[in-house]
Amino acid sequence: MPALDMSESAQILAIEDEESIRDMLTYSLERDGHQVIAVPNVTSAKKVLASSPIDLAIVDWMLPGGSGLEFVRAVRGKETTRALPVIMLTARTDEDDIAAGLDAGADDYVTKPFSPKELNSRIKALLRRSRDHLDSNSTLQVGPLQLNTQTHRAQCESLDIELGHTEFKLLRFFMENPERVFSRDQLLDHVWGHGTFIEERTVDVHILRLRKILKPAKADKMLQTVRGAGYRLSGKT
Ligand code: CA
Repeated sequence: MPALDMSESAQILAIEDEESIRDMLTYSLERDGHQVIAVPNVTSAKKVLASSPIDLAIVDWMLPGGSGLEFVRAVRGKETTRALPVIMLTARTDEDDIAAGLDAGADDYVTKPFSPKELNSRIKALLRRSRDHLDSNSTLQVGPLQLNTQTHRAQCESLDIELGHTEFKLLRFFMENPERVFSRDQLLDHVWGHGTFIEERTVDVHILRLRKILKPAKADKMLQTVRGAGYRLSGKT
């Protein structure tokens, strides 16, 4: 058995109402070197989140007394947990449900039945991404547009811009790579994580939303359509 890489161990909150899956999660995550707090419902999860430092949450989609989706929304709505990496567990393969989950603020998803190995590699990738972002400078700037990656708030010409989770991730990616053109497919890979169930038109929907959000600050023209190629964020407008 290979030695555990403790640098990638994390304190993980797992929310799952089915006891057998909860036990299986705890067992496999602990085997991978993580510390696990596993709870059966959203109420307990909120208590854990308020009292323990959590690095990542795994949330079942279908939970009694408040869905996983509501939990994710609550996490994203609070300043202290806004940047918490969240993976959704879902039995559903319906594209709309997964899109809704990602839209509400889940960073990635794994469909049941899942392999512990796949889940662990998703966890690793997500922790790496979030640690990179925590380490990096928290303010990005392109032209007059500023984005604080800790508070998820944007500003342009001293006007505040409120962002939804997906719009935040999309804008962050563009601002990390200004002036570069990305195809829909590339954006799906980089922003949504992996594009198995998400259609390319989802990208267009979020680009339109992001433009709408940027419009009052007159920054919508920075997000440009490049015919036949994709989209780019440009500071030269
Ligand atoms: Ca369930």
